[in-house]
Amino acid sequence: MTSPDILDLDFDAHLDVVRRLTDEELIPGEAEMTDLGEVPPRLVERLVACGLFGITLPRSWGGLGWTMEQQVRLTFEFTRASPVYRSRFSTTIGLCSQILLDHGTDEQRDRYLPDMATGRCVTSFALTEPGAGSDATAVATTAVRDGEQYVIDGHKRFITNGAWADLLIVFARTGEGFSAILVPADTEGVTATLPTRMNGHEAGPVAELSFTDARVPTANLIGDEGAGLTLALRGINHARTHVAATAVGSATRLLGEAAEHARTRHQFGRPIAEFGVIEAMLGRSRAELEAARALVLDCARAWDAGSIPWTRIAAAKLVATETANRIADRAVQVLGGDGIVGDHPVGRLWRDVRALSIYEGTTQIHERNLARHLLKTVGDGHPVFDD
Ligand SMILES: Cc1cc2nc3c(=O)[nH]c(=O)nc-3n(C[C@H](O)[C@H](O)[C@H](O)COP(=O)(O)OP(=O)(O)OC[C@H]3O[C@@H](n4cnc5c(N)ncnc54)[C@H](O)[C@@H]3O)c2cc1C
Repeated sequence: MTSPDILDLDFDAHLDVVRRLTDEELIPGEAEMTDLGEVPPRLVERLVACGLFGITLPRSWGGLGWTMEQQVRLTFEFTRASPVYRSRFSTTIGLCSQILLDHGTDEQRDRYLPDMATGRCVTSFALTEPGAGSDATAVATTAVRDGEQYVIDGHKRFITNGAWADLLIVFARTGEGFSAILVPADTEGVTATLPTRMNGHEAGPVAELSFTDARVPTANLIGDEGAGLTLALRGINHARTHVAATAVGSATRLLGEAAEHARTRHQFGRPIAEFGVIEAMLGRSRAELEAARALVLDCARAWDAGSIPWTRIAAAKLVATETANRIADRAVQVLGGDGIVGDHPVGRLWRDVRALSIYEGTTQIHERNLARHLLKTVGDGHPVFDD
């Protein structure tokens, strides 16, 4: 439950709480989290108490009602700690809550949003399948009407929080198109299994979900039948913006760790920071981080101006995640063997940030979408920007 005093804070005071949570509890808790294989329950409670499940929902639904720019600035802070912490609430605050907020019925919103905003209802977004990855339109899971119920059969994979969720938003074929349907995770016929290994995100494993004759009321449909893709994109665009901010937070931490190591590690009788090649890696990383940070903030401001700035979201997600990967790679290089051997945070974050260029649209899908938009709108030889 969100701590009541958090609701009384203005944004800067909340940012300060989150900064202290990150430095004093989340970063020191990373090694324990990795050993345990999940976010320790005590730290999940801290994420909840500090209001992190509520940053995207309006006050009327029990959230904190922060703007997108404010959400992004908070994300820059808490993702200086392992991105696994963020994954624990990301699907609830982004992908799922935003779909319900914009497209849910009054009854669905009353029932779920206040609990989502206060961490009592963890929600997963179940779209990806073995045959439907980048091509979400290939969803093969079915939801067949039987009187007042949908009968769901199929298989989902790579589902964040699938093993911890109370509620799933499942995308399933209903005739011609596919639809978004609310499925309580304890519905008979729903099972979740975890993979044996993860490459990065070890403490936040994604689940496989199976649906065998799983029945839910037809009242659990969100929006219209066949509108699944539009609804999914509503949540996905929000999540893409947050993933871009996550990349900036991770890159900030990585660059700080690399700079600290360069200052304190001596070779050839001096700190390695004094070698020009090390300076070049740090300086270039700093410049690229500034650029990614500015683009993500600009994208957030465009959201707050009223529309969903999807080309800028695609650009920010692509640029920030690729930047984080380059900075992670350089940080490992600056650390030398310490970046590979043992459990230094740089080695762990290097593995973690790799996934950021894969989920919420791969880099190649964003390249493709941006190129198509450019070619369609270029007109008299000038690219068209959103503003
Ligand atoms: C840690 C993690 C968490 C995730 N969480 C969730 C979740 O909560 N819910 C959920 O539904 N899904 C989730 N996903 C799934 C994620 O969205 C998919 O992995 C992603 O969409 C890519 O699909 P795929 O893995 O099947 O790769 P594929 O689509 O098979 O892509 C393989 C390669 O082909 C390229 N490619 C594919 N199509 C094209 C094209 N048209 N043009 C150019 N290149 C192309 C891709 O860029 C990639 O390089 C998660 C994935 C990971 C790794």
